[in-house]
Formats: sequence, C-alpha cells, structure tokens
Amino acid sequence: MDIKPLEKEKISYSELEELEKECPSQEKEKKNGISSLDDEKDIISKNILSDIHQYDVIIIGGGLTGLRAALQVSNAQLKVAIISKVHPLRSHSVAAQGGMNASLANVPGENETVDNWKIHAYDTVKGSDYLADQDAVEIMCREAPSTVIELEHMGTAWSRLENGKIAQRPFGGAGFPRTCYAADRTGHNALHTLYEQVISIDIPIYEDFFVTSLVTENEYCVGCTALEIRTGKVHGFQASAVLMATGGFGRLFNSSTNALINTGDGQSLALNAGVSLKDMEFIQFHPTTLYGTNILITEGARGEGGILINKNGERFVENYAPNSLDLAPRDVVARTIDIEIAEGRGFKGGYVHLDLRHLGEELIKERLPGIRQISIDFAGVDPINEPIPIQPGQHYSMGGIDADKDGKTSLKGFYAAGECACISVHGANRLGGNSLLETVVFGRLVGDAIIEEISKGPNKEQENLEPLKKAITKIDSKLKNILSRKTSENQFKIKESLNKTMSSKFGIFRDRVVMEKGILEIEEIKKKLSQVKIDNKELALNQAIIRLLELEYLVQLAETVAFAAMKREESRGSHARTDYPSRDDKKFLKHTLTSLQNKKISVSYKPVVLGMFKPQERVY
Ligand SMILES: Cc1cc2nc3c(=O)[nH]c(=O)nc-3n(C[C@H](O)[C@H](O)[C@H](O)COP(=O)(O)OP(=O)(O)OC[C@H]3O[C@@H](n4cnc5c(N)ncnc54)[C@H](O)[C@@H]3O)c2cc1C
Repeated sequence: MDIKPLEKEKISYSELEELEKECPSQEKEKKNGISSLDDEKDIISKNILSDIHQYDVIIIGGGLTGLRAALQVSNAQLKVAIISKVHPLRSHSVAAQGGMNASLANVPGENETVDNWKIHAYDTVKGSDYLADQDAVEIMCREAPSTVIELEHMGTAWSRLENGKIAQRPFGGAGFPRTCYAADRTGHNALHTLYEQVISIDIPIYEDFFVTSLVTENEYCVGCTALEIRTGKVHGFQASAVLMATGGFGRLFNSSTNALINTGDGQSLALNAGVSLKDMEFIQFHPTTLYGTNILITEGARGEGGILINKNGERFVENYAPNSLDLAPRDVVARTIDIEIAEGRGFKGGYVHLDLRHLGEELIKERLPGIRQISIDFAGVDPINEPIPIQPGQHYSMGGIDADKDGKTSLKGFYAAGECACISVHGANRLGGNSLLETVVFGRLVGDAIIEEISKGPNKEQENLEPLKKAITKIDSKLKNILSRKTSENQFKIKESLNKTMSSKFGIFRDRVVMEKGILEIEEIKKKLSQVKIDNKELALNQAIIRLLELEYLVQLAETVAFAAMKREESRGSHARTDYPSRDDKKFLKHTLTSLQNKKISVSYKPVVLGMFKPQERVY
C-alpha cells in the first residue's frame, strides 16, 4: 500500500530546519563546538533528517493486535496510523495454525456437558499455574464468543460443523472442544480479514518502517522515531497515544517456531523508555515442532486425535499426565518429551514421533492440510502414511511489557497489547488458542481505553516538537557511528552464540550453576556487540543495520530473561528449575518486573491479581 501521510499533518524538511534555527539549545551546542544538525552536511545526515508526522494515535505493529486496535480508534474518528517493519500480512500472526478459543459451546463436552466462559477462565488460570491476573483473564474469556462472531461478520471463514455452526476442536489444558479454527490456517484467515477492513477505510500504513525509539517528555510518551527502510531516512511520529503491538521475541532462541522478525523490538524499546517488563522468565516451548526445522506442528494435530510415541512405540505421555494425556498443557508435554529424549527413549538426533495415521486420509486433508504439506515439504514425510518426527521448540513469550487490563503502562500515553505485552492472561504457561484470542480482544479493548483517554482533552506535552527532533538527531548519530566503525566483529556469529546460550542455559530445564554460566556468556556477547562492523555504508535498504538493531534488542532481552529466571527459585509453568523443583506460592506467587536502572537490569516484584480461583496444585 502507498504511504499516504496526510499532507496537512506533515512538517517538511525546510520547516524542520526553521524550527532547528529557533531552538536555543542548538545555538549553545554550536558555541560549545558540538556539531548541530545545520552543520552536518554529510550524506548520511541529509538522508536521515526527514518528516515529522502527527496523529492522534500511532500503532506500532501490523499484526492482529495492531490492526484490530487501529480499526477501533479509527471508528472513533481519531487520526491513526500503523507502523510496521514488514508488510502487515507478513506479521507473524499470519502463521498461526490451530485456532482461537471461545466458549461458544458448539461442540458438547464429555457426557453432554456445556462449556461457558467461567470454565474457560478456570482452564486458563490453572494452565497459567496461577500466575495470570484473574481480572484480565475474566475479561478475555467473557469477550471470547463475541470476538469470534465479530471476526466472522467481518469475513473470517471459520471451519464449520455439519449443522453449520462454527467448528471447535479440543486443545491442550482445555476441558472442552473450545478452539475455533479455519482448517490449520487460522491466523492467515483472521489477519487477511482485519487487513481488508483496515485498507477499506484507508488507515495510513507506514510499512517497511523500523521503529528505533520511543520519545518521551516529562514522563509522557509523545511519539516515536522510525527508520524508513527503503530510503534510509529517519522519520518522527508524534501522537497523543502510542500503542506497542510488536509481537514476541522467539528469535532469542536457537530452535524457534517464530518468524525471523520476532526479535522483541517493542519490549526493548519500552525498557529503554523506562517501562518495566513483566515475567520475562516464562518462555513457552511448544511440544511439537518439526524435527530439524522447528516449523510448528499445531496442537490441533493432537486435538484431532494425534498421539506422541517414543522409539519403543510407547504412548509415553500417559506416564506423566494420565488424565489429559497428549492434550495436557504445553509446559507439561514439552517436559515429558525432553525427559524421554534425555533418558534415551527418543530417536537418534533427539526427537519423538507424532502419529496421525489412524486419523485417516480424509480428516487429515480436510482439517490439517497445511500440516500435511509442511511435513511433506520439510521432512519428506506424508503423515497419512508415516509418523511426523517432532521435538520441542521455543514458541511464545509469556512475558512482555508490563501493562494492565486496559493496556496502560507506567508511561503516560504509552500502551501495549498482544504478544509484546504482559497484560498477564497467560501467567507462567499459555494455553494454545488463547493468544489469537488475546490479540483481538485486547486490540479492541485497549483501543477503547485510548479513545477514552484522548477524549479527556489535549495533551500539552504533544505540542512541543523539540523532544522528537532531538530523538531524530540521536538516532542519526547512532546510525552514523555504527556505519563509521573500524571494528571487526561479525553480528551473525554473535547472534548464533546468543541463540546457543539461551537455548542451552535458559531452555526447558534450568538450574543456578548453568544459568550463571549463561549470564557470563551474555556479558561477553554484549561486549562484542559494540564492536560489530557493517560493510554496507548506505542507509537505504541496509538490511545489515536493521539486523544489528534487532540484535541489540535481543541481547537486552536476554539479560532480562536471565536475571528474572535466576531469581525465581521455584518451578512454575514453563519455568522448570531442577534445583527448585516445586512451586513455591509463599515466596513466588508474584510477578517479576525487570527494569533498567543506571543502564543495568534490576529485578523487583509485584502481586498477582487473584480472583475467582484459589491457587491449587496443578494435576492433569
Ligand atoms: C507458528 C505459530 C503458530 C501459532 N498458532 C497459534 C494458534 O493457533 N492459536 C493461538 O492462539 N496462537 C498461536 N500462535 C501465537 C500467535 O500467533 C501470536 O502470539 C500472535 O499472532 C501475535 O500477534 P501480535 O499482533 O501480538 O504480533 P505479530 O503478529 O507478531 O505482529 C507484530 C508486528 O509488529 C511489527 N514490528 C515489530 N517490530 C517492529 C519495529 N521495530 N518497527 C516497526 N514494526 C515492528 C511487525 O512488522 C508486525 O507487523 C502461534 C504462533 C506461532 C509462532
């Protein structure tokens, strides 16, 4: 889509120069001999100084969360724009396979029991190992049925039952067949639906714009800066509210189901703007990713009846989760697979089998066509005739930007939702199908919270362009500095060692001694990061510089994961410590907060919001 910033909202290069002249701090800087913008005549600087765009609301991220929020605020006649580092349809939401949870009760449970939102909330809180905030869970589960219907009305083609109702399949940790799906391409379907809606009402989309900083003034978020990848220019975006919807940070790990773009930019940008991250130690490892490539094999495959088998032909999950079997929650199943492999009951190379053969050709073709194709294309295995080789892989980031149920953060005017946020509906372990739900429910509701806040009146901080101009200059010199380095470190090797460190030291099982080594390794990686050399000196279309900025974000997040994990001396959900194997509600029924204090990561805690469900031992 063409970029169409509204002409009247755009400040031209020459106007910006005029403003620079009026700026007294510039004069002072000149006298002190510090170079000012006017003095900087080199090519990079000219490329960088560009437009400032003004909106009521800026949404960073064009995935399900960002698109849904954009529709909401646009419907309230607010001027909104979306910024995305890739075309919105390449956002990682497009890859979601299995489905979206909602207690529609279209398929009865055992003994003809009927689902409802409270049972959904209970399953979610239990699945979270009681770390989810129950006020947020309640909202999500109550809103789920109307959210699925709303998507249907917008055009999402859900799979149907024979009676014409929206189809639902069982997913892990759920007491009912609750997951609504569009074959095994649910995210693809939903994302296209919302994108169509967004372009039909001409919401401006700045695509291939890479956000480089949040801009703050007097404890207010007043906008952000973004590098236009195509031209190499840095733009400024000024707004009364900024919503971060940038997705997860799975690419911190070696074997991940996540897209290469999932580098946690939003979480790191928030951290640098003074906002805490919450529960970063809770990383989800999905039990079934294709051996070797780690492409996701949806939980829907087990939902349809697929079973896990070790090299001895045993259905091993029954030894660990006798009631829920293969449909126990992900943390439980991922650990069982890891144990089977570690104890020598996996296949050579480190995998087990997911067997779908008994489901039959017709069902596989109808409900799992994408999974069949992935298995054929990437493993040379047709699941109609052969079992699929699978191993656990990193999949989801439960932690993220500390936000309340309205998406509000500690920084005024700055909101977060979707996977980059921790509104805390997933706690220590997310149930499959709850994340797509979260994106659309909170995309809408956080949109409402923003509308309400803006309706209270103009925000004075927004009238001052100075902070934005300073931020543009700062990014300008940062990029210049990087390009002028005479050092020699290779960023791709650094990324590789970061991934190895995180997977081997902060993976499914953790302990103090190993994590201590990991922290030292991250320290070393950090040192090397400032020595990275980039050969391409052009800013336009310079993918190497984008990758480096992403790597900087990842390294910072690695530290938050490491420190948070080290300090949580218990096992809860996806955080399994061999040196502290039990859950410890007395000491750790609380959220971890990581923040930046004097450029160092500091860890603190805050209480979990309890409610309808009292913490109990989790048995499946
Ligand atoms: C393979 C796979 C399958 C999944 N299947 C399911 C499922 O079946 N059910 C379920 O509930 N969940 C599923 N999930 C999880 C779910 O898909 C994601 O959590 C969810 O889609 C995230 O949506 P989002 O809107 O938060 O972010 P995303 O869809 O990841 O979008 C992030 C956006 O932020 C933008 N962005 C990031 N950084 C920057 C930057 N610096 N500057 C500008 N823009 C930026 C990106 O361009 C992108 O547009 C799956 C996840 C994976 C990996």
